[in-house]
Amino acid sequence: MSTIHNIKTEVDIQRLPVDSEEHKFNDWMVKYKKSHILHSQCSTADRCSTSSEKCQFCVYTSTLELPHLPEMVFPNNILYLIHSSGAGIEFNALDALKQVCNKSLPIKVACSDAWRGTRSPSHLEEKVKPFDWTFSSDYRGTVSGPFDITTTDERINIEKLKEREKILFYQDLMLYEDELHDNGIASCTVKIRVMPSSFFVLLRYFLRVDNVMVRVNDTRLFHEFSTNYILREYTNRESGFQELGLPLPVFADPNLISQHLPLQTSIYEKLVLPNNENVQESSSKEQ
Ligand SMILES: [Zn+2]
Repeated sequence: MSTIHNIKTEVDIQRLPVDSEEHKFNDWMVKYKKSHILHSQCSTADRCSTSSEKCQFCVYTSTLELPHLPEMVFPNNILYLIHSSGAGIEFNALDALKQVCNKSLPIKVACSDAWRGTRSPSHLEEKVKPFDWTFSSDYRGTVSGPFDITTTDERINIEKLKEREKILFYQDLMLYEDELHDNGIASCTVKIRVMPSSFFVLLRYFLRVDNVMVRVNDTRLFHEFSTNYILREYTNRESGFQELGLPLPVFADPNLISQHLPLQTSIYEKLVLPNNENVQESSSKEQ
């Protein structure tokens, strides 16, 4: 969005405040940070070229090796879920972008050609290496600590999620977004809601290449506090525009369109928490 770029040049975005909160729910600490978008260039060239302590822009460009980054990257928007055992999951833009293919174009050539045709030829010729310009990511969150991860036949109980339970905490974070030079949208967002009995996270990568295709990569995490595990479900759904034959407004709403997209791949996992004494200690302390 060009308005954001304009604002960015007028104020020192590094000085904008960071919004952050942390809350304890049973054995979990739920924490988030939220702040300004990534600079579009290095802010401290002298320091970044000589020392290992780099600015965020240089960390992103050197880690990712992408010819360019999405128009809007939110390096400080991070959601953390930390269990008293030390096991944790976080959601951040850098790790989501690490999953973007920087070597080839995973979208069918016909699609990318249709889209590329709208760009100026000189721009394409200049491009040194092909990469996934849709910033498609199958990121499922960054897991750390003593989780035991296995595949499972157990599924998230959707009926349970539909129950009208009080929402104790809710947060919605944008990790990155790109408007594909006005040819659609690619976005990666994460949402959490915590209820008295459980928490639910939806990490969503959404892609719409106008008149070409739609893709929704969802990762859902569901944990009932009465259990010792988290269910994590990843689904990749996509389709061409023509195959769907739906009215255009449906394409603007990821929630609506995802219901019409055929499932391509899925991964169902159980993230099992350690059953150690620390867990019991901290939960008894709380009472
Ligand atoms: Zn720098």
